[in-house]
Amino acid sequence: MLDFQGDVREHVAVLDALKTPSVRVKREEQLETVAGLIIPGGESTTIGNLLRHYGMDEAIRRRHAKGMAVFGTCAGLILMAREIQGSQQPRLGLMDITAARNAFGRQIQSFETDLSVPTLGEAPLRAVFIRAPYVSRVGEGVETLATFRNRIVLVRQSNLLAAAFHPELVGETRAHRLFVDIVRGRA
Ligand code: GLN
Repeated sequence: MLDFQGDVREHVAVLDALKTPSVRVKREEQLETVAGLIIPGGESTTIGNLLRHYGMDEAIRRRHAKGMAVFGTCAGLILMAREIQGSQQPRLGLMDITAARNAFGRQIQSFETDLSVPTLGEAPLRAVFIRAPYVSRVGEGVETLATFRNRIVLVRQSNLLAAAFHPELVGETRAHRLFVDIVRGRA
């Protein structure tokens, strides 16, 4: 669990509910001790600047190249994207997607909804969108797991998972369980 800025506590609570041990990662050495890293929602420019300042961006890329899985929600998705529409802000660039920031317009900048996510079973996934991005381009090898209003909001590329919304704020555990399964090589 990357612990610079954002809704870290809520993610840790979901992992606790799944009886999955977690570490709040603030320093490079801690990255060596985890098999998967969650990047929370928050403010992508702030988190990106902090990552760069502490050299954590390079460290995360290196760990990912050696097999560490990464799950980003909201700002985390933006940071994982190779391209961010209209922005040169610092990023990890791990995933072959383009992210569009604050993409759901004014009236519905923040809203809660049910998403159909076939990979997670029949029951819809409860999701909160808070000034959420969406994925405007997916590269080869990127699987679209959910859309909302014709916009891609959940994607997977091998051991990388990214959600435009916050599953951790509404008591959902299934998105995190999928990530844990990815980390353990079970999905
Ligand atoms: N709009 C934010 C950003 O661009 C993301 C919002 C969120 O993570 N809830 O960083």
